[in-house]
Amino acid sequence: MIDSTADAVTRLDARLQPWLQSRRDGGLWRQVEPLYGYDGARASTSAGRSIRVMCGNDYLGLATDPRLAQAMIGYAGRSGVGTGAAHLVTGHRREHAELEGALAEFTGREAALLFSTGYMANLGVISALVRRGERVGEDRLNHASLIDALRLAGAKSLRYPHADVSQLSSRCAQLDASLAMVVTDGVFSMDGDVAPLNELACLADRSGAILVVDDAHGLGVLGENGRGSISASGCADRQVPVLVGTLGKAFGVFGAFVAGSKCLIETLMQAARTYIYTTALPPGVATAAYQAVLIAQQESWRRERVIAMARRFRLGAEQLGLPVGGNRQITTPIQPIIVGSAQNALSWSSELEQAGFRVAAIRPPTVPEGTSRLRISFTAQHSEDDVDQLLEVLARTMQRHPVAD
Ligand SMILES: *Cc1c(COP(=O)(O)O)cnc(C)c1O
Repeated sequence: MIDSTADAVTRLDARLQPWLQSRRDGGLWRQVEPLYGYDGARASTSAGRSIRVMCGNDYLGLATDPRLAQAMIGYAGRSGVGTGAAHLVTGHRREHAELEGALAEFTGREAALLFSTGYMANLGVISALVRRGERVGEDRLNHASLIDALRLAGAKSLRYPHADVSQLSSRCAQLDASLAMVVTDGVFSMDGDVAPLNELACLADRSGAILVVDDAHGLGVLGENGRGSISASGCADRQVPVLVGTLGKAFGVFGAFVAGSKCLIETLMQAARTYIYTTALPPGVATAAYQAVLIAQQESWRRERVIAMARRFRLGAEQLGLPVGGNRQITTPIQPIIVGSAQNALSWSSELEQAGFRVAAIRPPTVPEGTSRLRISFTAQHSEDDVDQLLEVLARTMQRHPVAD
């Protein structure tokens, strides 16, 4: 019972408690665990134990690169930190323009536009391009920000089973409806497989739809020069007129962008509310990202190394009979071990933690019920020893916490 004489804070807390309790009871509780002294592969826990970090998105090991830090420090020393305004007011600096130029060149597009985060880029681009009631195909396992973006835009969503282009195609035929857009992750963030971009591009071409690819986990890592999953799939750039990328993953910094034709970018500047109504990201961050884009292209050993680690892991995991997710032709740094229930994922994660590996348990609603997992991911900073030790611990953990079929 809620006491009507209680103060406002007490009333609010009383309303929230039952839901919180149900999260705890369901093994769905989320909490942060600070890391200390992260160096690209290792860190310390709050208890002072050294731990190998095996679940981040810093695939090329650039987050801790001193050249990026120097760029940021250099800018901050000269001109400070904040922009004090949105891009369209007084927030846009030469450093943003240079980064946008480098991103356009890197992605082989006419132009690029910076957003403060990938989440905002997706909300902005989708709601600027989709009209209320238009039909949009979306993969069931798309990133939460794409799902939210379509909701915000008021799109009629055609959610198709993961990577199942024929389902989308036959649903379109049944409905006899025109398809305005198809939206997909390039590399699926929790599964690590690459979208069937060629088939999606064909379907989009046949139905006159626009293909939007969010390549948050592919850019910098896959394809020629790290140009991402479109290049790795052998798709033509012009089949994907809207490309979303982030700067916080392989590029190791923070921020995001949309790349495409001049006309697309001009449209976004007029219409993308998450571009217009938000403070421009710090120029020092843009200078660091600029360095990252150059380094990612020049130092191809980083890509080769992270993929070699992922291959080694996958081969080992298959030999040990670990439930490693997804059949795939293209190896990516993301190699999930799918363990079933949320509770089981927590058990696996805490066993790994005891053994000196930080791998977060990924549970619903981030992934579908019954597919909770350890989202293992590699970086260019990991060693063969990291991979081999991790495999050993996983094999032991599987004995203690079996995965139900
Ligand atoms: C991480 C991620 C985003 C969000 O990017 P942020 O810059 O972290 O907000 C968007 N899409 C996908 C597929 C992602 O994995």
